[in-house]
Amino acid sequence: MENLYVSTRNEEIKATAKQTILKGIAPDGGLFVRPDLDSIKVDLKKIVDQNYLQNAAYILKNLLPDYTEDELESCIQNAYGHSFSRSEITPLRKVDDVYVLELFHGPTSAFKDVALTLLPQLMSTALKSTNQKAMIMTATSGDTGKAAMSGFQDVEHIAIEVFYPHNKVSQIQYRQMATQEGKNVKVFAIQGNFDDAQTTVKQLFMDQDLNEKAAKQGVMLTSANSINVGRLVPQIVYYFEAYKDLVKENAIQLGDKVSFSVPTGNFGDVLAGYYAYLMGLPVEKFYVASNSNKVLTDFLKTGIYDKNREFIQTISPSMDILVSSNLERLLYYMSGKDTELVAKWMNDLNTTGRYDVGSEVLGKIQALFVGDFVTDEQTKQIIRQVYEKTDVVLDPHTAIGYKVAKERADRPVVALATASPYKFSIDVLDALGQQSNDEWDALRKLSSICQDEVPAPLAQLETKEILHKEVIAVDQMKQVVEQGLEELL
Ligand SMILES: *Cc1c(COP(=O)(O)O)cnc(C)c1O
Repeated sequence: MENLYVSTRNEEIKATAKQTILKGIAPDGGLFVRPDLDSIKVDLKKIVDQNYLQNAAYILKNLLPDYTEDELESCIQNAYGHSFSRSEITPLRKVDDVYVLELFHGPTSAFKDVALTLLPQLMSTALKSTNQKAMIMTATSGDTGKAAMSGFQDVEHIAIEVFYPHNKVSQIQYRQMATQEGKNVKVFAIQGNFDDAQTTVKQLFMDQDLNEKAAKQGVMLTSANSINVGRLVPQIVYYFEAYKDLVKENAIQLGDKVSFSVPTGNFGDVLAGYYAYLMGLPVEKFYVASNSNKVLTDFLKTGIYDKNREFIQTISPSMDILVSSNLERLLYYMSGKDTELVAKWMNDLNTTGRYDVGSEVLGKIQALFVGDFVTDEQTKQIIRQVYEKTDVVLDPHTAIGYKVAKERADRPVVALATASPYKFSIDVLDALGQQSNDEWDALRKLSSICQDEVPAPLAQLETKEILHKEVIAVDQMKQVVEQGLEELL
């Protein structure tokens, strides 16, 4: 099969789509990209006539041609056939004069489900042609771990181990993880913070001894984080879906441009939008919406990416990020696919914590991307205002994208809704002027305000059996991974 993918840092490093999905990251530390992405053109008329699952198959076939059509269809069916509570998968809803694209109707009520239901299927299919098994290691600050476990639960030939910081996740997040079923799934609380978990997982990927042990058993160590091509491609689909819905509602004519406002952390979600644009989606602007960790807002103004700053804990924790890894892919395309230049910037980032892309590249980026940020105070304010005007309750992440969209003049604009408000009940209630210190009480209060039901997977958590109780020291992580390898045999 053709090696269509290359590293952002060296075009001599090549891989097939299946290999990129199994490896996650390129061996030189770069990210896998397709140089010919802008020559794939999606037929918008076809998109408008097909349903979500058909469009997913159509788009994925173009991006991952070494999967057969049958393979992709079965992956997509397994991912989306039963696990989303809405048949549209990602419904579009008009809230005042902004269209809100709801990405949170999956099993864990966050947008990461759209990708993390499909990635395990793509990995498992790719593994079949290698006769290998895979061990996924994931460090999580709360949300990704649950979505990943849920997606990998009982997937053949793959085991997953998740590490989260003990006593540093919310009650709901704790219960989501500790009650996770599946014979191939393990979760550990570690005595340390998220950075300790993350750093140790990264070390384990490089650990020669562990890699040799795994290789002897025919197991590859891999990750499910958002730099994996298999996380990115499922997200391209819903940009086209939003466009389809706008055409069907007669909000636009086929071919008209649309803007998107995307609450951003690691730059994965908004990058998927850019990929859709390269593949022919008519886009006016992408609004890159951040919280007070506004590294991207500053970058999009100045061309200087500088992570040397204070890390701020906000009420939109999934966007509390200072290094937006997927930005590297945008830089690859915007620099004219100059892998040497990208490698230099990434080296600067590693050694000094900053890089400067210069005015020419910045100009190209600014023609399509606009950055803005929203403080916690403003986030609460917009949640309250939107509720008072429309009865719709937004979660803090969604509210950030919504506010940035609201402040711009161009219409139509689609704001991506990345989590259900129920996942962040206490802060959302606070924004609406009500107090609660207990997450379960907050869920019920919010349910009566929203006048709808708590999503079933969240409602059931309070009484579900705790299956994972182990709390381990950071230096025990390698040991539990080794045990996991034994059990995979
Ligand atoms: C992960 C996440 C984001 C940020 O998405 P990126 O792809 O990292 O930019 C935004 N909102 C929620 C709720 C998330 O979980």
